[in-house]
Amino acid sequence: MTHLATSHLPAATRYERPPHHWRRCGSSGLRLPAVSLGLWHNFGDVDRYSNCRELLLGAFDRGITHFDLANNYGPPPGSAEVTLGRVLREDLRDYRDELVISTKAGYRMWPGPYGDGGSRKYLLSSLDQSLKRLGLDHVDIFYHHRATPDTPLEESMGALAQAVRSGRAIYVGLSNYPADEARRAAALLREMGTPCIIHQPAYNLLNRGPEEELLQTLQDEGIGCIAYSPLAQGILTDRYLGHDVPADSRVARGGFLKGDDLTDERLAIARRLNTLAQAWGLTLAQLALAWVLRHPGMSSVLIGASRLAHIDDALGAAAAPPFDAEQLRAIDAAVKPPSTF
Ligand code: NDP
Repeated sequence: MTHLATSHLPAATRYERPPHHWRRCGSSGLRLPAVSLGLWHNFGDVDRYSNCRELLLGAFDRGITHFDLANNYGPPPGSAEVTLGRVLREDLRDYRDELVISTKAGYRMWPGPYGDGGSRKYLLSSLDQSLKRLGLDHVDIFYHHRATPDTPLEESMGALAQAVRSGRAIYVGLSNYPADEARRAAALLREMGTPCIIHQPAYNLLNRGPEEELLQTLQDEGIGCIAYSPLAQGILTDRYLGHDVPADSRVARGGFLKGDDLTDERLAIARRLNTLAQAWGLTLAQLALAWVLRHPGMSSVLIGASRLAHIDDALGAAAAPPFDAEQLRAIDAAVKPPSTF
């Protein structure tokens, strides 16, 4: 077979990372990079393709082997999968097996009763659509994006198991499932011979809800945890610490984060954390990410980025020495009173 040359030659140094860069995903055999890149924002049709490409190739060059998607990422919905599909086709064709690519279904994707929720009809049709947009014959992880109590759990989990049995996915995961539902879903998936290897909840210093029950449940079940929005969509960075909202930020560009989310209380917490970060030679983003990664059940932090510097900053967090008990106490004190982000 003739092989067309790929137009990007990945950095030969991409696997020269500190040993703790690789983390086992629960009790599975899959290892994830401590930092993974999500394509929720900044990779849609509305974004500059050259920047999307630079971020994806730059991440891979730096040992970030996991890219996370969902059917509805864009805007418009689906376009982030098309963007990654193009980079895979034009630049990374020979590197597919060095990458862990995930996608999800669970939120509204197309009109009518079959484009939303947890039915077998929706999940499997959506996965087929995702594969087409990505130009792939399988994804590495297929997630149910949220618990849907109006669908029998057996049906949603049966659809995930079918995705694996049919060769469309290698592993399955859950996202946004509360602890008790996750436990029931994990038991069903185990019975079906396709264990749940990963759970994707929101977890950051402004949202410590998963500490109540979920994180322990995941460790008990041998399920890896990948925390999404570990920077609270940018609030736990220097992005909003100045006087004005930067014109190129998620808030100003009309992303999911709104001006109303930038409350005085949250910004005060960010400023207190920033003072600690500076004293410890870290950026605020690094402190926030290193704090999430401190948890023994954490397989990866799933960041978003609008520029390569964000990715470098995050990798600095993964390389930082662990916090000592006194530092962790100082962080706890800085986030009081707890926010409800
Ligand atoms: P983050 O909390 O990491 O926020 C990312 C944003 O923070 C960036 O877009 C950028 O904002 C800013 N930022 C990142 N790094 C820095 C830095 N070093 N310095 C300054 N600013 C920085 O994560 P996201 O909310 O983007 O979520 C990450 C991924 O998680 C998504 O892409 C998706 O894959 C997944 N996710 C999953 C969900 C689910 O339901 N399962 C829900 C939400 C996300 P700016 O763009 O303004 O520059």
